[in-house]
Parts: sequence; structure tokens; C-alpha cells
Amino acid sequence: MSDCIFCKIAAGDIPSATIYEDDEFRVILDLGPATKGHALILPKQHYKDITELPEDLAGKAMILAKKIVTCMMEAIPCDGYNIVQNNGEPAGQTVFHFHMHLIPRYVGDHAGVTWKPGTLSEEVKKEILEKAACLK
Ligand code: 5GP
Ligand code: ZN
Repeated sequence: MSDCIFCKIAAGDIPSATIYEDDEFRVILDLGPATKGHALILPKQHYKDITELPEDLAGKAMILAKKIVTCMMEAIPCDGYNIVQNNGEPAGQTVFHFHMHLIPRYVGDHAGVTWKPGTLSEEVKKEILEKAACLK
């Protein structure tokens, strides 16, 4: 994708603060970090979101997330980690090249990776359990 900023960063055409790289992924520091150490896992190939991402890469991305979180928790001590992955504009996606956010959390950081809990009604529960039959 010639007009995709993350394609250019992943390919090394635009410089980035890279903390890890292999044949399939580049992991960079976010330019607008939620907290100190906020990093992004980018596949080098362009996929707009999780629906386009091939299963094998999805698996590798999660294994990589585990590796990086485990290492960075030691290197830059924090109190927790959020792994966030946005798909679609209403979900907060602003760059339409699949990526995973790795966000270190610190007690009292007020980073606000959260939501207001609703209530699961019987009607909605029934509907979703029926429609989730597509998973079987
Ligand atoms: P999204 O909102 O799509 O889930 O996340 C996009 C993220 O990419 C944001 O956290 C934003 O700060 C980060 N970002 C956008 N452009 C750049 C860039 O050119 N370089 C880096 N390192 N991060 C970027
Ligand atoms: Zn791209």
C-alpha cells in the first residue's frame, strides 16, 4: 500500500524507534504514547485489520506480544500491561494497517484504557448465543 504510513515504517522507508524486528514484524514505539513504553506491533505486510490478517500471522503476533511484554516488564518496570487492538473507526482505529498496542501501566497513570460497564440483558444474551452458532 503506497499511501500507508505503517507500510513505510514497517519497511524501514520511514525511520522509527524500533525495539524489535524480524522478517514478518517490526515493533516500534508509539509517537503518541498512552504511557512510557507504549509500543506497536506492525506486520510488514499490509492488512487493514484483524479480519484480513492471516491466522498464522495472528498467532505469531500474539506470541510476539508475550515475548515483548515479558522482556519490557523487566527492562522498564511497570505495574501491568494492556494489549489493545482496534478495528474500525468506531473502535478507535486511526491507522488502517493492522497493529497491536502494547501499553505498560503504572499505578495512578490515568491512561484510561477502559469502558463503562453496561448490563447483559436476557434478550441480548439469547440473541448472541443463537447467532454465535456460526462459530460451531
Ligand atoms: P489506532 O488508533 O489506529 O489503534 O492507533 C494508531 C497509533 O499509531 C496511535 O497510537 C498513534 O499515536 C500511532 N501513530 C500514528 N502515526 C504514527 C507514526 O508515524 N509513528 C509512530 N511511531 N506512531 C504513530
Ligand atoms: Zn500498510
